[in-house]
Amino acid sequence: MILETLSNGRGVSGNEAAVRDLILEAVREHVDEHQVDALGNLICLRRARVRREDGQPPLRVMVAAHMDEIGLIVTGINGDGTLSFDKVGGIDDRVLPSKQVLVGANAVPGVIGFPPIHLIPRSERDRAPNMSQAVIDIGASDKAAAEGLVKKGDYVSFQTTYQALDTDGLRTVKGKAFDDRAGCAALVELLQGDYAVDLYGVFTTQEEVGLRGARVAAYRIAPDLAFALEGTICDDLPKEQGDDTSPVTELGKGPALAFMDRSYVADRRLLRLLMDAAEREGIPYQFKQAVAGGTDSGAIHLAREGVPAVTIAVPVRYIHAPVTLLSLNDFYHMVQLVRAALLALQGGLPS
Ligand SMILES: [Zn+2]
Repeated sequence: MILETLSNGRGVSGNEAAVRDLILEAVREHVDEHQVDALGNLICLRRARVRREDGQPPLRVMVAAHMDEIGLIVTGINGDGTLSFDKVGGIDDRVLPSKQVLVGANAVPGVIGFPPIHLIPRSERDRAPNMSQAVIDIGASDKAAAEGLVKKGDYVSFQTTYQALDTDGLRTVKGKAFDDRAGCAALVELLQGDYAVDLYGVFTTQEEVGLRGARVAAYRIAPDLAFALEGTICDDLPKEQGDDTSPVTELGKGPALAFMDRSYVADRRLLRLLMDAAEREGIPYQFKQAVAGGTDSGAIHLAREGVPAVTIAVPVRYIHAPVTLLSLNDFYHMVQLVRAALLALQGGLPS
C-alpha cells in the first residue's frame, strides 16, 4: 500500500529526497517524463491518452501534493550530550513532550526530554509546557559522544509507524505525515489513469514552510488549471456540551473541498466541476468549514498570469502532531473524485 510506504518515509521540509525516491519508484513506469527541479520538486508528465471532444489541444493540468512533513531541526549539541532543536513548520509545543524521534540521515533514535510529574510543582501542572528550553535526548554521555552520531542542521522526524486500526467500516489508519503523504499517495494512483489532459503530477517540496516548491513548479509548467491534494484539519470529536458548531471536517464523510483558506480562494468553475462529478458518480464529499491553513493552491494560483486552482483534502485527525488518523474510505473517495473531475475535462474547462 503506497500510503503506508510514504507515511513511514522521512521527509521534513527541505529534506524530501528519501520520500521522492519512494514516489519515483512507484510512478516511473506510468509517466512519460519526469524531472527533479532545483528546489527538489518531482515533476511528472503523463500525456493525454484520449482526444478532447472539441478537437482542441489537451489542457495542461497541474495536480500537486507536497512531499514534506512537519518536524524538527538540530540547532545545537550541548555539553551533556543532549540536542537543542527548533521546529520546522507549524507545531504546537504542547504535542512535543516525551515524543520519540529519529535524528539525521542515520535515524538515530531519541526522546524529547520532559521532567517527570513528580518534579513539576502543582501550580504549574495546568499550564502549557514551555518547550523553548527542551532538548532531544539520544542517550549520549557527553558532547563528543553526541557529535559522533549527529550534527547541527540534522533533520528530526517523529517515530511513528503506519498501522491499520481496523475498528469498523471507517477503515481508520494511524501514521505520521498524512499531511500530505495522503495527497502524494492519491497522486500516485491518479498518474495511472487515461485522460484527455496533459497531467503534470507534481510532488512539491517545502509546503509547510511557505508553499515554496509549488511556486517554482507552477512557473515552469504554466498550467491551465490546478488541483492541490491535501490532508486537512479534522475536529469531529465530541465538544463541550451545548456547543453546536459544526466541525471543520468529519472523518468518513468524504474528501473536503476548500472554498477558501488563508492562502487562496477556490476557482468557482473548478469547485462546480468537482461537485458535479461527485454528484454524478455518487461520491461523498464535504466542505472544509473553516478559513484556516494554507495550501499549495495559494502559490500556484498566483503563478505567472494566474492559474485557476482548487484544493481537495482528506480529513486528518490530530494533524501537525506526531501521530495522525485518517479513513481509507476518504482517501479512496478523493482519488475517485479527482479522477472523475479529470475525466470531465475532456470537454474543456467549464465556463
Ligand atoms: Zn499539507
